[in-house]
Amino acid sequence: MGIEEALSTDGFFTSRLQSLINWGRRSSLWPMPFATACCGIEVMATASSRYDLARFGAEVMRFSPRQSDVLVVAGRVTTKMMPVVQRVYAQITEPKWVVSMGACASTGGVFDTYAVIQGIDQFIPVDVYVPGCPPRPEMLLEGVMAIQKIIDQDRLPPKGPNGKRRPLQIALEPTHEVGEQPARITVGLT
Ligand code: SF4
Repeated sequence: MGIEEALSTDGFFTSRLQSLINWGRRSSLWPMPFATACCGIEVMATASSRYDLARFGAEVMRFSPRQSDVLVVAGRVTTKMMPVVQRVYAQITEPKWVVSMGACASTGGVFDTYAVIQGIDQFIPVDVYVPGCPPRPEMLLEGVMAIQKIIDQDRLPPKGPNGKRRPLQIALEPTHEVGEQPARITVGLT
C-alpha cells in the first residue's frame, strides 16, 4: 500500500507533533561506537551488508559525539578510559541514549580485575543492555529496536529529573538458539 492510498481523498492527515518528532528521531539514529575490544568487530558486522543496520535508519556511524545520539559502548572499559567515556557522553547533546554491548561493558565480563570497570552503568546511565560475549549482530539490532521503542514512548518535554530523560535500563533476553551445523563434523574416532 502506498502513501497515496493511506491518505484521505483530500490528501492530508493529522498526527500529534510529539509522534511526528519521535518518528523522525527513531528513524534516523546516529550511533557513536565506543569500541575498545572484540565486541567492536560485531558492531562492524552489524553495519555491514549481511546484517544491514541501514534498514533501521541507524547506519550513519559518527565518531564525533556532537553529531551522534546513541552511544554504543562495545568492549571492556578500563579505569583509565572511563573518564574519556564520561566526557564523550557529556558531549552528546540531548536527547541521547546509551547501549551497553556485551558482558565486559555491562559487568566487566571475565576481567574481574582492579583495572577494568565492572559495569559502565556505575558511571553513565545505560538504556539498553545487550547480553553476550560477544553479542551477535542480531542482538545489537534488537538493542537498536529497543531504543526505537523507548523513543516511541518518549514524552516532550521529558519527565525525568531536571527535565532530562530517565534511563530505562532494559536488559534484552538472549534469543539466539543454536541450530544444526551446516557441515556434519565428527570429532574423534568414528
Ligand atoms: S564481552 Fe566478550 S567479545 Fe565483548 S569485549 Fe568482552 S571479551 Fe570481547
